[in-house]
Amino acid sequence: MITLTGIPASSGAAIGPFFLLTTDIPVASSAPSQLGAEQEGAHLNQALASVGRDLQSRAERTEGELHEILVAIAEIATDPAIAEEAISFIEKGHTASYAITKATEVFQDLLAASGGYLAERVSDVMNIRDRVLCEIAGTGYPEIPHFDRPVILIAQDLSPADTADLETHMILAIVTAGGGPTSHTAIIACSNGIAAVVACAGVVELARSLPDAVIAVDATVGSVTFNPSIELSGEIEAIIAKIKLRKSRVVTRTDGAYTTTDGVKIPIYANIGRIEDTPAAVTAGADGVGLLRTELLYLDRNDAPTLQEQTAIYAEIFKSFNGQKVVIRTLDAGADKPMAFINFDQEPNPALGVRGYRTIDQHENLLRTQLEAIAAAAKSCSAEIWVMAPMITLPSEAARFVSIAHEYGLEKVGIMIEVPAAIFHIDELTKICDFVSIGTNDLGQYLHAADRESAPLAAFNDPWQPALLRAIKIIADAGIKNNCPVGVCGEAASDAALASVLIGSGITSLSCGVTTLSDVAAAISAQSLHTLKTAAAAALNASDANTAKQAARSAMPDLVELGL
Ligand code: PEP
Ligand code: MG
Repeated sequence: MITLTGIPASSGAAIGPFFLLTTDIPVASSAPSQLGAEQEGAHLNQALASVGRDLQSRAERTEGELHEILVAIAEIATDPAIAEEAISFIEKGHTASYAITKATEVFQDLLAASGGYLAERVSDVMNIRDRVLCEIAGTGYPEIPHFDRPVILIAQDLSPADTADLETHMILAIVTAGGGPTSHTAIIACSNGIAAVVACAGVVELARSLPDAVIAVDATVGSVTFNPSIELSGEIEAIIAKIKLRKSRVVTRTDGAYTTTDGVKIPIYANIGRIEDTPAAVTAGADGVGLLRTELLYLDRNDAPTLQEQTAIYAEIFKSFNGQKVVIRTLDAGADKPMAFINFDQEPNPALGVRGYRTIDQHENLLRTQLEAIAAAAKSCSAEIWVMAPMITLPSEAARFVSIAHEYGLEKVGIMIEVPAAIFHIDELTKICDFVSIGTNDLGQYLHAADRESAPLAAFNDPWQPALLRAIKIIADAGIKNNCPVGVCGEAASDAALASVLIGSGITSLSCGVTTLSDVAAAISAQSLHTLKTAAAAALNASDANTAKQAARSAMPDLVELGL
């Protein structure tokens, strides 16, 4: 029995045989071309076009997030910049294969240097390169085959194109040596409810040396065991049975609300950013929307959306939540979400620059148009519309935002707490606002001075970091004192155990990703507020993220019973 550890990327567990996706890709030689530049150039262009077409057709066979990712990758493959870079190598006498290898290296280096989400796109470029190399060599690209029995899929990494035709019902779990928690593997696994462990160093080599092994994957903790003992197999089977049982049960609501076992109602909302997200939020059993990221509706726009356009799209979203609450956030433009219709001066540190509410100085009309549209859309439906602004730092900003929103007849007005200084103003802020919502993604990065997209600094951005938990407690306490609801809409609320701790810390509502909402609801509904408070106290006492997590989990034995 050998156990490896990786990062849990999608909750669940599995035991069974594995399939190792080996990728035998022709290696490009640096020897000079025998064919000459013209023929090499023709080979290259034909291969790039063919790979681009293939990726495009894969995109057409898929939907949702995978479809969008594949469209973007097909665009990279057909981007003239890659071809031009490669042609420059061909002109120096190299082969088409060598040229594409070198050209893609340039793009990989640029992406890797950007860190975080962009760094994880390096694997997309490598996959394009591998497909082009196979095309030039005339060998087929090694695709994931059809399986006639369920397997655990092991790979160095999985690219979106690899998974376009994946028979997800035949996949017990996915384990990759590469990737991170925001990698494509994680996205695919989460959206299909498949257990996944990523960044599991050594798994490919071990799989190669033990081709007939049975594997046990426990993605609640990130362990991958080859040839598990009878005892461990039994434990994994027990977790699988618990997960099955949990998933087969609809989480019961009391009087239409998710309720702790001692009768405390906890609204659990969904985070959405596109019209297409609304049916999934409704199906997942959301109590409404706790964060509508409006900037995601307009990321591809070159011109500002008009009042009419905005009113129509908000009304379309709101009507799916008639009788429920929708918390809509004004544009959080800037930093990781630049928008073409807002002029941003070149800033050395965009995350510390003009983003979110701070754009008001140059773009007050944009904010006003958006608030007018929200107010108009609110009138067209029976959803309860709350509006909030991102990146508010000072009480004076909060007061101005509340007053502008009131001008448009919006009654429930709040702010996001994601800047540490706001915590030191929290008493005033919770008096000025009708509600506040904690953005743990940004609050975590600003508290720790660690870019949320930086892979090397990822540990600082672990939402279990005690500094973040203690900050949340201070905000929750101020909310209780001033009778101001305090929600959490950052990723912290999407982790069932951490969401439980948040409620135990005094948070009054949660807003989480649609795919994890039912897990969060199951966790909250299975425990008493008293237990959640005990877990929160244990986590708050810890001095590092791991200890906080372990201490909280030990105080919540029911989570283990649910396989969470
Ligand atoms: C956050 O910062 O936690 C948040 C919810 O906002 P975003 O992730 O959109 O910045
Ligand atoms: Mg934020």
